[in-house]
Amino acid sequence: MKRMIFIAPPAAGKGTQAKLICDLYNLEHISTGDLLRIEAENNVEIKNKMNAGEFIGDDIILSLIENKINSLNGVNGYILDGFPRNITQAKSFDKMLARNNQKIDYVIYIDVDKEVAKNRVTGRLYCTNCGSTYSELVEENKPQIENVCDRCHSNLVKREDDNAATFENRFDKYMSLTVPLLDYYKEQNNLYCVNGNQNSSGVSMAIKNIIEGEK
Ligand code: AMP
Repeated sequence: MKRMIFIAPPAAGKGTQAKLICDLYNLEHISTGDLLRIEAENNVEIKNKMNAGEFIGDDIILSLIENKINSLNGVNGYILDGFPRNITQAKSFDKMLARNNQKIDYVIYIDVDKEVAKNRVTGRLYCTNCGSTYSELVEENKPQIENVCDRCHSNLVKREDDNAATFENRFDKYMSLTVPLLDYYKEQNNLYCVNGNQNSSGVSMAIKNIIEGEK
């Protein structure tokens, strides 16, 4: 069972990479953002917080994660995309793993410059059904048919939080609350860094090399 965490700034492409790597190794893609977007359909407080780029409370996040992990069946492991996002979540998650005699195998940090991430937000398209992301600007990430998901053929939309103002807040939260996780996992000796400023296939190749052991 492989367990991985992907850490990256908002709109760095970690969801896209997580999906690609999950397909390759038969892993479950667990995105707290995707789980919360489902919750937000019936919860105005969550919806408003997400649209403002604010974090959702740790208790809600931890119970979503625990339920999801406990429901896994027939996969070789999972990639956590967007979780943990602060030290409290990381420590609670470590306790959850320890209770089950489990550990994280790889924490992959996709290092992307703020300007690159900001540009990616502008053209990002999102599938409301399966959560796949595309770009209307970057040729290699365009959907085959305009505004239609390659994977499930549902409609593609822009995320409400993918705008310049919300991006700034999300990036600030990332810098102040999520970046400290890098030292936290470095101390646990399972942090691996990938250059995320390159194109999507370069990033996935770098992640594959880490998993295949050619660090
Ligand atoms: P993402 O899809 O990862 O960009 O997440 C979208 C939004 O969901 C974030 O801006 C937060 O509002 C919320 N969110 C996702 N994951 C978490 C988390 N682990 N802790 C708190 N809030 C989260």
